[in-house]
Amino acid sequence: MARYTGPVCRLCRRERMKLYLKGAKCDSMKCPIERRPYPPGEAGNARRQRQGSEYLLQLREKQKARRIYGLMEKQFRRIYAEANRRPGVTGENLLQMLELRLDNVTHRAGWGASRAQARQLVRHGHISVNGKRVTIPSYTVRKGDVVSLREKAKAMDVVRHNLEILDRAKPAWIEVGDGGASITVLDLPLREAIDVPVREQLIVELYSK
Ligand code: SF4
Repeated sequence: MARYTGPVCRLCRRERMKLYLKGAKCDSMKCPIERRPYPPGEAGNARRQRQGSEYLLQLREKQKARRIYGLMEKQFRRIYAEANRRPGVTGENLLQMLELRLDNVTHRAGWGASRAQARQLVRHGHISVNGKRVTIPSYTVRKGDVVSLREKAKAMDVVRHNLEILDRAKPAWIEVGDGGASITVLDLPLREAIDVPVREQLIVELYSK
């Protein structure tokens, strides 16, 4: 599946906020947004002043969500279509589906410093779901699933560093076990348990045009 391979800090600057795409660097003073909190490029400073139209606000919100979860437009659109088909509030369905992707759960468990690193762990076969190796980042976990680090991954320096040094707070909908090497999905995440700074209603309005 295609993915964005350009400079990710530009994406944060474009959205004028930290999207936490680079792991430890995001919490340090090396984060470019600390020094240049305006869009990249020559027009960046001018863009700082510009007021957005309704469409522009909706578009930016969608781009922000897409970038946080590291998805291309086609994938994001497909998830939205499924969220729209399901009963309930479309925007909340969308965020819940994004949260339940295996790469995101791997990140939430604290094994990957960023979603991109978590995705690599999944792709390289370091994650299992209910005891079976799963290498598909878009795999959707369900309530009751047990997601674990495989034996080799438990000893990896990068994983140990993420678990011991970064020690990210875990959301309430997962329960940590096996000394941090496995998690159980206790419940499907509700909107209030999802801490991404996205106004999902604007995305729904954009796609409903
Ligand atoms: Fe975004 Fe992290 Fe880069 Fe800062 S360091 S701009 S938060 S990706």
